[in-house]
Amino acid sequence: MDNSAAQTAFADWRRTPPTERIQYLFKLKKLLEDHYDEIARLTTQECGKTLAESQGELQRGIENVEVASGIPSLMMGYNVEDIARGIDEHMFRQPVGVVAAITPFNFPSMIPLWFLPYAIACGNCFILKPSEKVPMTMSRVFDLIDQLGLPPGVVSLVNGAKGTVDALLDHPGVRAISFVGSSPVAKYVYSRATGNGKRAQCQGGAKNPVIVLPDADMEMATRIIADSSFGCAGQRCLATSLAITVGEAGNVFRKQIREMAASRKVGYGLDPAIEMGPVITPESKQRIESLIGKGMSEGAEVLVDGRGASISGYERGYFVRPTVLDNVDPRSEIAGTEIFGPVLGLVHVQTVDEAIEVVNDSSYGNMACLFTSSGAAARKFRHEVLAGNIGINIGVAAPMAFFPFSGWKDSFFGDMHAQGRDAIEFYTQKKVVVERWPREWSRKF
Ligand code: NAD
Repeated sequence: MDNSAAQTAFADWRRTPPTERIQYLFKLKKLLEDHYDEIARLTTQECGKTLAESQGELQRGIENVEVASGIPSLMMGYNVEDIARGIDEHMFRQPVGVVAAITPFNFPSMIPLWFLPYAIACGNCFILKPSEKVPMTMSRVFDLIDQLGLPPGVVSLVNGAKGTVDALLDHPGVRAISFVGSSPVAKYVYSRATGNGKRAQCQGGAKNPVIVLPDADMEMATRIIADSSFGCAGQRCLATSLAITVGEAGNVFRKQIREMAASRKVGYGLDPAIEMGPVITPESKQRIESLIGKGMSEGAEVLVDGRGASISGYERGYFVRPTVLDNVDPRSEIAGTEIFGPVLGLVHVQTVDEAIEVVNDSSYGNMACLFTSSGAAARKFRHEVLAGNIGINIGVAAPMAFFPFSGWKDSFFGDMHAQGRDAIEFYTQKKVVVERWPREWSRKF
């Protein structure tokens, strides 16, 4: 792969003052806002989510542009005078070099914007490789980036699939990789990138549980869990896919979630009456439907069956309606497999301890939520649960731009994060400078 444009641009871009670099971000924010609906519509057209969902993700992307505009102060170093007599020591942060991000299909605008603004504001040159399943959103955003007047090579777009990813991972001029996608690929990318001496942070897949205690506000809990399970047709790494009810919460929750799943309006995402769009590909639809069948063969009962959906006017669409599987065995394969579709499994247990055990047995650790009105239960959950993003009486959306996206276990590979304040760590390298200027030298003047 030829990345000479980025290499060449880096020499001057790193010397451009951060206060000048962020001027491009102010312009980018304005352009994204001016083209907000157009970009959101493209996202819906290529990945199927509703227009409101596409607008929501773009808004979260823009928030990252805003936060990255604070980089002149965020990337300050520190210093101490007289670490020994007449000797001073400083820590400066310098950009890493040419950096790349490889992103998934499910958030075509937000996820690239988790990285791009921080990377360039810190003085790096940035290469984006979006998912080959959704090339249009970023193609249009890069048309807008072309209007910023950035020096050529500061930001580049490369399209492609595995071959392009491998070229980035093997290129000696690429110094850091951010990856977001499924866990097997995240693990592969992490090991190949770090094996080649690069800095890497790789966000993977998930199987997210929520616990519902009998003292929860059941109406609120059910509404939030339905939105979390079926929003974006379940194609979110923070989607709820297992609801673990404790004691008598089971009966109430089962009845309410069945109604909410069955009544969700499924169809074309640009239709404002629609609450859930299709899944991304025919293969994805087929995989989801076969996993529902697998769950049934493992003993789960189908409360709401979303297979075989056909939407009038869109008969060739890849629709799967919301599906609820009851009495899922927490040890079954379906309980541990990321489905990445609108499928919620219900697990019923008798105590909070059992529920937390189910959560912690998962090989993933992206997100876990609890619904309760008990402060003591909430604290216990927060303290003991093995997941990187926790919600209490709320569903977890992507963390606000100031915060990192903190997956645990097989949901994350690496020890640095590249969003929010942590992006400064990822997109800079520290240089510690010690200086001695003997006093007698100043007497010359
Ligand atoms: P994916 O792993 O198939 O693809 C992600 C990226 O990797 C794409 O750009 C793709 O071109 C590339 N890729 C795919 N296969 C590859 C291979 N064998 N070698 C090298 N590169 C390869 O993921 P997806 O289907 O686009 O996205 C869905 C997955 O992403 C889900 O597992 C979801 O949980 C996860 N996800 C995680 C987060 C998070 O923040 N943790 C956020 C969004 C999505």
